[in-house]
Amino acid sequence: MLVASASLLNIKAVILDVGENAPAKQVAAPTAPHLNHIDGSFADPAKIRELAAKVDILTVEIEHVDVSALEEIQSLPRETPLAIHPSPFTIRIIQDKFKQKEHLLKHNSPVSEFTSVEPTEASITEAAQRLGLPLMLKSRTLAYDGRGNFVIRSVSQISDALAALAGRPLYAEKWVPFSKEIAVMVVRTTDGKVQSYPAVETVHKDNICHLVFAPLRSRDHTLQDRAKRVAGDAIRSFTGAGVFGVEMFLLENGELYVNEIAPRPHNSGHYTIEACETSQYENHLRAILSLPLGSTNLQVPSAIMLNLIGHSSSMSELIATTNIALTIPGVSVHLYGKADCRKGRKMGHITIVGESDAETRARLRPLLESLPSSSA
Ligand code: ATP
Ligand code: MG
Ligand code: MG
Repeated sequence: MLVASASLLNIKAVILDVGENAPAKQVAAPTAPHLNHIDGSFADPAKIRELAAKVDILTVEIEHVDVSALEEIQSLPRETPLAIHPSPFTIRIIQDKFKQKEHLLKHNSPVSEFTSVEPTEASITEAAQRLGLPLMLKSRTLAYDGRGNFVIRSVSQISDALAALAGRPLYAEKWVPFSKEIAVMVVRTTDGKVQSYPAVETVHKDNICHLVFAPLRSRDHTLQDRAKRVAGDAIRSFTGAGVFGVEMFLLENGELYVNEIAPRPHNSGHYTIEACETSQYENHLRAILSLPLGSTNLQVPSAIMLNLIGHSSSMSELIATTNIALTIPGVSVHLYGKADCRKGRKMGHITIVGESDAETRARLRPLLESLPSSSA
């Protein structure tokens, strides 16, 4: 999606990813032999150096990259300076959730209580005594889609939690009894200005984002602005440019906590492609190229994003849903072209726009009904 936006602005993209047919490479053909895409991992320093040698601006769309390689590249003299966005400093903090929480706390962003723990029963029991039960035990690194979290509901589960997260660096968070999960995409410019997209409601199923409702509705008329401000303040505290996804918890009393930050375009911002005046992808590019940002306003009254999550090793269930989607007005299908479909893997998404929430919800209904019953 980032590369599709780049092509409209005639920005040449070189992609580092595993496989010659990786999704982004399917979108952008190399424009010259010296700009050929690279087959390799974003965690491989040699491949990152190879990519850096080909580009003027380097950006990431996943935070689990080798940051030491980025820092080393940034310190090397070269003819045309290389810009890395967001900064390696920012990626290093965000890729360790414990460091990320410490950073947010230091910069006065509201976060739930948390504590470092050792991977021992005694240490986690002590954390449970201090922060209460349930206790959210999290891997500090390499987490996504909830893989890296364990909810400890009673101390008898601590050994199961340690087994499930064996070998991973851990910390613990106080349980947040949220009423809703919300998210705000924020664009940060090279000179540190921030601009927020509307706050949206995110609905997770089995720890994977299932639906996004834009905009977030509430009887509390201060909520939109408060959520945008909390998200914007959090992102102002980092360095480097680009789009950031800020996941938040909304409490019953209206309070907001930051859950976590993604230093890149984010699933909760996919709706912006059809629903906003400028998509998160285009604004990410504009930000890292120091171009004027586009408007982050909605251009439709209501939008919904439905993730297409693999149900099995076959795409057939998802294709049945996309075939129905193509018959409904205001509905756009995005299929990512990933090589293999797997249960729980994000294979694409559908965006629905309409004149009212009632209209977008009516358009969503047949799509939900078409999903295999366990994923609706
Ligand atoms: P993502 O795919 O969003 O990167 P992740 O693996 O990094 O997910 P988190 O966002 O930390 O995981 O947590 C996943 C989900 O678990 C959250 O969306 C929320 O529903 C729940 N959760 C996380 N932390 C807490 C908490 N402290 N209290 C209650 N629920 C929580
Ligand atoms: Mg995460
Ligand atoms: Mg998350």
